[in-house]
Amino acid sequence: MSELLVIEGAAIATVDRVGTEHRCGHLMVRDGRIAAVGPGPAPTMEGARRVDGSGCLLTPGLVNTHHHLYQWATRGYAQQATLFEWLTELYPVWARITEPQVAAAAAAGLGWLARSGCTTTTDHHYLFPQGAGDLLGSTVHAAGRIGLRFHPCRGSMDLGRSGGGLPPDEVVEPIDAILDATRYAVERFHDPAPGAMVRVAVAPCSPFSVSAELLTESAALARSLKLRLHTHLAETLDEESYCRERHGCSPVEYLDKLGWLGRDVWLAHAVHLAPAEIARLGATGTGVAHCPSSNARLGAGTAPSRALLDVGAPVGLGVDGAASQEAGRLVEEMRQAMYAARQRGAVGALARRPGEVAGPTALTARQALAMATIGGARCVGRADEIGSLEPGKLADLALWRLDGLGHAGIADPVAALVFGAASPLELLTVGGAVVVERDELRTADEGTLARDLAHACREIAA
Ligand SMILES: [Zn+2]
Repeated sequence: MSELLVIEGAAIATVDRVGTEHRCGHLMVRDGRIAAVGPGPAPTMEGARRVDGSGCLLTPGLVNTHHHLYQWATRGYAQQATLFEWLTELYPVWARITEPQVAAAAAAGLGWLARSGCTTTTDHHYLFPQGAGDLLGSTVHAAGRIGLRFHPCRGSMDLGRSGGGLPPDEVVEPIDAILDATRYAVERFHDPAPGAMVRVAVAPCSPFSVSAELLTESAALARSLKLRLHTHLAETLDEESYCRERHGCSPVEYLDKLGWLGRDVWLAHAVHLAPAEIARLGATGTGVAHCPSSNARLGAGTAPSRALLDVGAPVGLGVDGAASQEAGRLVEEMRQAMYAARQRGAVGALARRPGEVAGPTALTARQALAMATIGGARCVGRADEIGSLEPGKLADLALWRLDGLGHAGIADPVAALVFGAASPLELLTVGGAVVVERDELRTADEGTLARDLAHACREIAA
């Protein structure tokens, strides 16, 4: 039986190739995919559920390109720390984490992401203490429970302190175990079929926690299995110094030497980039998960997002792990991205590259919305299925209410959403299935998620 859903009377920002928008339009969903989108009222559809979208803006569901769900249980630590100080304080805490704690953190984090307009999320899980249980499986299970499209990135660390890395030896794994576990995760969870709810990526953690050998082997494994590659890169100046001392080159040059740039790769952060490196990311089609709030929280710097867009690199948005971004609201990253791009011009020539567009024209509300939707879809390799509202694409939709106290009277609905306060979410669907309605999670009880999370947090802190 075909499931029919009609949303009408809403402003619509399709984020298609030419930026088609409708002041008042309709969108029809059949069998989990968009059947039609256009101006004016919808034609009559027998048996369809009709949603009155008046006072609302309909956009594609947002795509979160970088996250660490387990960190939802370790928020509020190391509040004045740089990345390396923050990691050094948190590694020993994370080393004790268990499967039930990760399950509670993931379910709560995913529920909160859904409440902020996210329909597809990645999760970079790189922490597998011995005997901790099925940590990756617990995140996949949580995503099924909340109903989000999920791209678990099987992370890894093999370079402990004794080998010259930053993490303590107790949280790293041997290379063979990592590669076996990654293959096993693919067998268990990866679905290459169109419309997939779960796709696995291969994701060594960062240049200061993994060996060159692991990076090389991970790329070979991913390419043999047609999986995408993800890692942290060029997040801080400390990382740049580490790479220059250890490898004699910058983080981007290091990855390039190892064959790690390309259309099947997206990198978290990419804050500290020389002009030639920005061009190289564009030329290779390497994606960037821009995480402006996390970068601000850790005082890491401001990514050159506009310059990356100008060279054609896919740029998506990420909330990043909640231990370095406690708010974790994806919709708010659009405004933060816009502000960060504009601020690069205000902090002087040192932060800005020659010829770089900065100041108030550096990023528009519509460019920020495109980053959060189609840009993210490009990063995770699914621009043909999600990220814009077009017939045939998956019905991953966010309907934002803009007629309340926070937004009423702003004539441009996209400006209201991006410049304005975080908007209430009237409806969120994934493949046409309702996940959030009237700003409430419909797939799980929020009170239960919060209680389970608080319990996990108390155990971890004890
Ligand atoms: Zn991260």
